[in-house]
Amino acid sequence: MPVSETMVQEIVQAVLAKAQIAEAPTGKHGIFKDMNDAIEAAKSAQKIVKVMSMDQREKIITCIRKKIHENAEILARMGVDETGMGNVGDKILKHHLVADKTPGTEDITTTAWSGDRGLTLIEMGPFGVIGAITPSTNPSETVLCNTIGMLAGGNTVVFNPHPSAIKTSIYAINMLNEASLEAGGPDNICVTVEAPTLETSNIMMKHKDIHLIAATGGPGVVTAVLSSGKRGIGAGAGNPPALVDETADIHKAARDIVNGCTFDNNLPCIAEKEIVAVASIADELMNALISENDCYLASKEEQDALTAVVLAGGKLNRKCVGRDARTLLSMIGVDAPANIRCIVFEGPKEHPLITTELMMPILGMVRAKDFDDAVEQAVWLEHGNRHSAHIHSKNVDNITKYAKAIDTAILVKNGPSYSAIGFGGEGFCTFTIASRTGEGLTSASTFTKRRRCVMSDSLCIR
Ligand code: NAD
Repeated sequence: MPVSETMVQEIVQAVLAKAQIAEAPTGKHGIFKDMNDAIEAAKSAQKIVKVMSMDQREKIITCIRKKIHENAEILARMGVDETGMGNVGDKILKHHLVADKTPGTEDITTTAWSGDRGLTLIEMGPFGVIGAITPSTNPSETVLCNTIGMLAGGNTVVFNPHPSAIKTSIYAINMLNEASLEAGGPDNICVTVEAPTLETSNIMMKHKDIHLIAATGGPGVVTAVLSSGKRGIGAGAGNPPALVDETADIHKAARDIVNGCTFDNNLPCIAEKEIVAVASIADELMNALISENDCYLASKEEQDALTAVVLAGGKLNRKCVGRDARTLLSMIGVDAPANIRCIVFEGPKEHPLITTELMMPILGMVRAKDFDDAVEQAVWLEHGNRHSAHIHSKNVDNITKYAKAIDTAILVKNGPSYSAIGFGGEGFCTFTIASRTGEGLTSASTFTKRRRCVMSDSLCIR
């Protein structure tokens, strides 16, 4: 068999890879005791990744996708067991979605200008080793999705996962490195420490070899990352309102809202957290929620009891986050029928169960006197996060007005929230939505540096 240039290149790189790995600190497929060692190992792996052909990167990503499909159920079960949040069925779907719809190297593109004075290109190059902080709500989903995108961009990644999801995150990181090795890549394309803390996070954020940090989580972590002095991608909190106006298909709107709100027990940051309904259709919508979509109407006393449990001492009770509606009702002594999926009630926008990002299937409905009032209340409820919002309307002018006023990274029209991340909707998947820093839905290209490459006065062959 003739030996092609590509084959020679691949053999040389494999030998180089082995030499680099021999020098790097040793951990178990990406898991280290010490954060500095983890970063050192990711740095060695990145030296190999950056000289790989795009085709080689894509081969690793193909192997990652296969392993995610094979391990979707294990990862889903681990996530639910370890964090106590979400549900296995929906988490399985989320993993398949990550495998199928997270962009790979096809997202790394070149822009070119060609003319009398030559040829100029903008190319997307790697940052190097990226620091990533991941949430407890989508733990393995975020680790997997971030790694595919960051690797496609030529980077390796150091994770500081949420401590309450560390076992699940470690399983995902081991699996990603196994995929890399199987596809002929290096170990440590992604790394972490056995016991992540705020201290390990600080070491990572201050480390001289980390030039970009991607933080996915609540307001605290995004602020910490944006104060680090490094370039930060901030994927922060949301409180997405679903606005329903008088032109909407009310039965479909009710169905879409409940499907989106109850997906993985309302853990996704994009999920419907409250409804704002125009008065003329508010009763019809509430009826459709209860009689057609298995929602439980909470009385005033039950709302107060839920508030006392869910927001005990004025703080979000983590034992309620990501629990299903029946479990939440059982916490206040209500034995709800087996089919109940969501708790609903009507209240003012200031109601604590409406204004707070709860991440559980409790859906308060705020009544608005007309469309303008609905927009005003929805904007108030989104709290300036500029994250996600949803609308059910057939009036294009209303949709446009809402879109401009609420100014969010995501706006879903006439569908469930999860269609925004490619689940039953067009477009790619991500679990890192950079709401605070403006990149929006992140993908491989987000994790690259733009470089201008200029050839003066030649290579224009027009
Ligand atoms: P969290 O903020 O408690 O934790 C997120 C991560 O940040 C964890 O790894 C945690 O250990 C770390 N962290 C927290 N404070 C920190 C600090 N001061 N310094 C360094 N690290 C810190 O969030 P969570 O409860 O795990 O996740 C839910 C939150 O994340 C919600 O607010 C949700 O909207 C948001 N979220 C946003 C996105 C997005 O793409 N925008 C995706 C998922 C979740």
